[in-house]
Amino acid sequence: MYDPLTGRYTFACPSRGETHVLLSAFRSIEQLPGAAHPAVFRVRFDCECGEEHDGLVTHEELDWAPLGLAAGDFLNLMTASLDPVATELGDLAARHIGKGEWPWSFFCFPEEQPRPVFPSSFTLLTATDGTVGLAVRCPSCRRLSLNLVSHPHVDVPFHNDREIGVVEHMFAEDAVATLDEFCAELWSASFDARRLALE
Ligand SMILES: [Zn+2]
Ligand SMILES: [Zn+2]
Repeated sequence: MYDPLTGRYTFACPSRGETHVLLSAFRSIEQLPGAAHPAVFRVRFDCECGEEHDGLVTHEELDWAPLGLAAGDFLNLMTASLDPVATELGDLAARHIGKGEWPWSFFCFPEEQPRPVFPSSFTLLTATDGTVGLAVRCPSCRRLSLNLVSHPHVDVPFHNDREIGVVEHMFAEDAVATLDEFCAELWSASFDARRLALE
């Protein structure tokens, strides 16, 4: 479950019952084989209780809910009534995309160009206070790129950093299969800044 007002996904936590996490707290995103319609993803996330847990999200929750496209109703604090918010946010998303502004983007190193992307293409994530490291499977060329971005770049749809860090390395298909391998590659790598203008 995703709450568009807080930008957080709700998952079960063994010690707290329920926890609410930002996309940047995800550590891995993996599509489960089999269920294609709707596709289901297994997510490993960093919980506020200090542990990592697994959760399941549908493709719709992962990629579309942050755009308000399946938002349902929310409590309007001005009128104390329930308003259907989905249509309104959907229009806003459509207008952004019409202007060439994408909810998420990354820099594809093999193709040497910025590309629009959805969270379901993020395979591994790691975060420090100011930075999020992303391994992205390019939706276009299917190859892997490692980017270094800000938290809002990941957590706030349509917030795209103007410049991001790119690991200048081609990765073999299975080179960064685990979070440990990914972190080792990421923090040992040298980065080059790339502009993310998507014109
Ligand atoms: Zn927890
Ligand atoms: Zn690509």
